[in-house]
Amino acid sequence: MARIGVVGLGTMGAALALNIADSGFDVAVYNRSEGATNDLMAGAGGLAERLIPAKTLEELVAAIEPPRSILIMVKAGDPVDSVIASLTPLLDKGDLIIDGGNADFNDTRRRTEALTSEGLGYLGVGVSGGEEGARHGPSIMVGGTEETYRGIEDIIEAIAAKFKGAPCAAWLGPDGAGHFVKTVHNGIEYADMQFIAEVYGLLRAEGRPLDKMAKMFAEWNGGPLHSYLIEITAEILAAADKDTGKPVVDVILDQAGQKGTGRWTVIAALKLGQSATAIESAVAARSWSADKAAREAAEAAYPNAKVALSTLLDTDLELALLGARIIGYGQGFALLGAASEAFDWNLDLQKIAEIWRAGCIIRSSLLDEIMMAADEGLPHGQLILSPVIQPHLKEAVPALRRVTAAAVQAGVPVPAFAAALSYFDTFRRGRGTADLIQAQRDFFGRHGFERVDREGTDFHGPWAG
Ligand code: NDP
Repeated sequence: MARIGVVGLGTMGAALALNIADSGFDVAVYNRSEGATNDLMAGAGGLAERLIPAKTLEELVAAIEPPRSILIMVKAGDPVDSVIASLTPLLDKGDLIIDGGNADFNDTRRRTEALTSEGLGYLGVGVSGGEEGARHGPSIMVGGTEETYRGIEDIIEAIAAKFKGAPCAAWLGPDGAGHFVKTVHNGIEYADMQFIAEVYGLLRAEGRPLDKMAKMFAEWNGGPLHSYLIEITAEILAAADKDTGKPVVDVILDQAGQKGTGRWTVIAALKLGQSATAIESAVAARSWSADKAAREAAEAAYPNAKVALSTLLDTDLELALLGARIIGYGQGFALLGAASEAFDWNLDLQKIAEIWRAGCIIRSSLLDEIMMAADEGLPHGQLILSPVIQPHLKEAVPALRRVTAAAVQAGVPVPAFAAALSYFDTFRRGRGTADLIQAQRDFFGRHGFERVDREGTDFHGPWAG
């Protein structure tokens, strides 16, 4: 009998099923349309003997040894509820449903409550690493009860990516904690991809040939920017289109899609009284990218003022990217801290940095330092205040400022760089400008204000009469 079942054999489900089989566990597999099950079995080679294909959910449930564990890997949203609704009547108390998709953590909280009240176990699990990660070792972020997790920890640790032998998987907290951490992971990923795209945009505006860009990214990957996203960018920029022989980036439409995790990060940040502006800029840039017709009309209406882009120093670009990346992570970690407090999750930020070091899309050598920073404790919940991080930021921010200023001057868009820099500049100002905001609110709405020299909140300006 199978130790676990997988429902949903799309890109991720099929790869995870093979990974589980490859790790020595028998796994029952089911997909709504049978073609995907047949394809998986046909391509599984020697692993097919560890896979038990099921034509119906009933067959799947019957093939798993009780208490059963079933991993759902379907499209996020309503399909998850629909699979759960079909599965639950077939299960016994003590069985476990695991949602490994990119669920909205609010849905996970709701589902956890509903299923646990019926005596079933429920884990909301974030899986990062794309298809390759799912097949050979993803980073896995688990939410639910710790006791429930211990029941399948051996499988999760076996299939997870390993960093110097340690599995990049962990139980992070109750109910929605795992999916929330995965959401913020994706938010950081959005920001990091956008920072890189902005550097690409600047270099393109400067007229730098793609092969030179590719070489530069490859070199950067050997330094402090070492990361999966820098590595694949170097490869992408060097790649030629199979049909035309042209550089592949030149034949790709400049419109990027999004499935929701970036947006969810921003929504969660706003709801928690935080603001992840670098991530928000990356989400906005994807939305603007979709509106190509309007952008083309705007280009015709407001042609570039032809301000030359001052020659960009490669070292400045490298440092600017590093500074922006630190700030992007900083916003993500501040958000994790805020959510941990609001939902009483007691998130271990060091552990999160630890399990992001292999398998996932945002894996980077910077995470080693973030781990150290989190271990020492983040002053005021801010990564940018950590003594481990401060020296890097002090070195990087002047370059970030020079690059952003050059871009702004030349009219080259750098929304995420500018957002990261403004966040940094706002934060390092002990006395900001909200005194005037308070005065304005009091002027038009008698909202009252606090004073610097007295206790209390109900002071009014001379305009109050
Ligand atoms: P795919 O589009 O490759 O596969 C979707 C799967 O969902 C198919 O098996 C499909 O079945 C099933 N499905 C859709 N609707 C229903 C439904 N109403 N009832 C039953 N089954 C349904 O998706 P992915 O494998 O890429 O993604 C799965 C999950 O993993 C998503 O939440 C995604 O966000 C997440 N994820 C994806 C990553 C990636 O890189 N692709 C990375 C990390 C997480 P059918 O074949 O019958 O249509």
